[in-house]
Amino acid sequence: MTRWCTWHGAEAEATVLARVVEVGSGPGGMFYACPSCVEAYGITPLTLAPEASERPLCSARGPM
Ligand SMILES: [Zn+2]
Repeated sequence: MTRWCTWHGAEAEATVLARVVEVGSGPGGMFYACPSCVEAYGITPLTLAPEASERPLCSARGPM
């Protein structure tokens, strides 16, 4: 089962779910990257980045 790697623009045998920060248009969100692009671009796979490891401490408080 192949999936589309957003980074190198082709199908890859194995991909991981990654998040794109720099989005020019659209809602952005989730994209898939192959292991090669993960290493090449320094992508952090969401599956390997649990929220507990990078919690924003107190900086993410809403109003009130
Ligand atoms: Zn790729």
